[in-house]
Amino acid sequence: MARPHVVVLPYPEAGNINPALQIAKLLHRHGAYVTFVNTEHNHARVQDTEGAAAVRGRDGFCFEAIPDGLSVADRAAQDYNIGLCVSITTRGAAPFRALLARLVAEPGVPPVTCVLTTLLMGFALDVAREQGIPTMAFWTCSAASFLADMRLPELEERGYVPLKDASYLTNGHLDTTVIDWIPGMPPMRLGDFSSFVRTTDRDDFCLRLIASEANNCKKADALVLNTFDGLETDVLAALRTEYPRIYTIGPLGCLLQGDGDGGSSTGRGLSLWKQDSECLAWLDAQEPRSVVYVSFGSIAVVTPEQLAEFAWGLAASGHPFLWCIRDGLVLGCSDGAAALPAAFAAETAGRGRVTSWCPQEQVLRHPAVGCFLTHSGWNSTCESMAAGVPMVCWPGFADQYTNCRYVCEAWGIGVRLDAEAKREQVAEHVKATMASEEMRRDAAKWKAEAEAAAGPGGSSYQNLRAMVRALGSSSN
Ligand code: UDP
Repeated sequence: MARPHVVVLPYPEAGNINPALQIAKLLHRHGAYVTFVNTEHNHARVQDTEGAAAVRGRDGFCFEAIPDGLSVADRAAQDYNIGLCVSITTRGAAPFRALLARLVAEPGVPPVTCVLTTLLMGFALDVAREQGIPTMAFWTCSAASFLADMRLPELEERGYVPLKDASYLTNGHLDTTVIDWIPGMPPMRLGDFSSFVRTTDRDDFCLRLIASEANNCKKADALVLNTFDGLETDVLAALRTEYPRIYTIGPLGCLLQGDGDGGSSTGRGLSLWKQDSECLAWLDAQEPRSVVYVSFGSIAVVTPEQLAEFAWGLAASGHPFLWCIRDGLVLGCSDGAAALPAAFAAETAGRGRVTSWCPQEQVLRHPAVGCFLTHSGWNSTCESMAAGVPMVCWPGFADQYTNCRYVCEAWGIGVRLDAEAKREQVAEHVKATMASEEMRRDAAKWKAEAEAAAGPGGSSYQNLRAMVRALGSSSN
């Protein structure tokens, strides 16, 4: 039988590329031929970290690139992320079709047996279908936020969305409106749903896109989720009534570690930013569980004023900290770290390290890290849980509110900051999280459950093998 060949197409930002590359590595390790597709822009940007170099040289792991359709001016625009989303979702199909046609005709390349896309790349499911190629949709968020996104059309039908007017954003409505009729979900505040419900516009681009993309996943032959059965039992049971074939294979970092990787590649892969690996040596010099790790992921932006609130909050917490301030994080400042208050460095001398991008999974697994001040992106949440690190959550976009809701209220491993995140609250929440034996105990419990799911005989371990078997069959 020919070697299964999976073409992996992630949405072109770190929160999709990283977990897609982890899946690609796992499938390759289990015998699949992998074609990993970046955008041309990212392809030129990626840092050749150890993990990427390691797979690049190996038999049957190839990288390809398609254009994202953006001009240089589009890329410099303030609403770059929305521009990228509009561009790739409306212009991605033709180059992807051409790429598949080229792969099919290329000598020595096994026939493509599966196209695996991440969220927002639904156009590729249609293209694969045209060519009779089975598909898998990898929704890179939690099962809960996927289910919540699938229910957005019903929220609209029942009149919750869009909001009646702008006052509903600030008058407490998002906190007091409770949705308790979604099978598989606990009662959820309207504000715990995707940020895209925070609109008064029925035609809001993000609202329309996310609702249709979540439901479009039904076109795929299988759904893949970076979660594990014991973490989201009720939600997964509800989802399985609509999606008979779901492969829950998370946390991906644990699976990679337990699956013969020996931990060597967790946190490494395709990085769009130059990584500061020296921060690991800095962590080596810190006391166990003494450091606050701070990062807001690859997309979030903050104002200089908000940055200052976090800075003074961290200073007042008294704890050492490692803070990733990536290029583009601070609105209007090309060098975000330079936007920190002038007196901050002197005030925290000797106990803080500011960097731009770090090997996050390795950082979170470092024994010196005691808590994670995070924007609650799903990858960050999973990585923190897998490392047994409690979180101080500051959600602000897309599924982050849903993740925060589960972290703080269902799993007991985090506390939430108000949207304003004033310095006093930042300091209080950091100190309370660092001191909380209860949160640490629950975090250790979830870490153990995550490792068991990914270890031999665990649900994610078995689902990965089932997924590999499906790659070679005519329908997944
Ligand atoms: N990340 C990293 N180094 C950093 C900050 C983030 O490697 O300094 C990685 C992190 O490990 C995660 C991804 O970037 O895999 C961020 O994804 P997430 O879903 O948390 O947030 P998003 O960037 O999509 O908002």
